[in-house]
Amino acid sequence: MASERLLVAEDEPALRQMMCDYLSSEGFRTLPAASGEDALRLFAAERPDLLVLDWMLPGLSGLEVARRVRAQGTTPIIMVTARGEEPDIIVGLEIGADDYLVKPVSMRQLAARVRAVLRRATATQQADVLTVGTLRIDFLGQTVSCEGKEVPLTATEFKLLAALARSPGRVFSRLQLMEAALGDYYEGYERTIDSHISHLRRKLEADNIIQTVHGSGYKLMPPGE
Ligand code: CA
Repeated sequence: MASERLLVAEDEPALRQMMCDYLSSEGFRTLPAASGEDALRLFAAERPDLLVLDWMLPGLSGLEVARRVRAQGTTPIIMVTARGEEPDIIVGLEIGADDYLVKPVSMRQLAARVRAVLRRATATQQADVLTVGTLRIDFLGQTVSCEGKEVPLTATEFKLLAALARSPGRVFSRLQLMEAALGDYYEGYERTIDSHISHLRRKLEADNIIQTVHGSGYKLMPPGE
């Protein structure tokens, strides 16, 4: 089972270490960051499953990091704030943080919140309809529309698009897409994915929704944003 990857942004080294150690002992993989800039860099490079963001970070604040991460998709965010910063908490939740913790942080509570937020995010992922920008994927009806126009897709194209759209901005390798779209029954080569992708692009009538990441694979960027 793949363990979820958590980005932990905290500038106090001892606390950062403690959080990472505890979350690792609970089976998560952790990506530590010491500043807001580090957090954004790591987020862009690693696309973690969840962010734990200290409010007060040197340079870019946790709030600013949260705002920028939220602009790129729905990756869950837990804000960590000092006692007495309740108005900040409201602002944090308004910009789309999923939960918050007040320092001093109990490690058990941190792990529990992480699990709860990830569970909620997974439930969203399993929703019947997924909307990413102007792209709408209906899993019950197995239909896709883009900018309100229905796009007829083959079953394989549908699975490919769904895999990409569930994690906007995340880079998928061809192998990962083969597994997502074709399961264990595929034949042929990884390059098969390229031709499915080019069909998808043509049908969506947009080249920039599914972007090629040279040397890595593909990612989906929300259309119409
Ligand atoms: Ca701090």
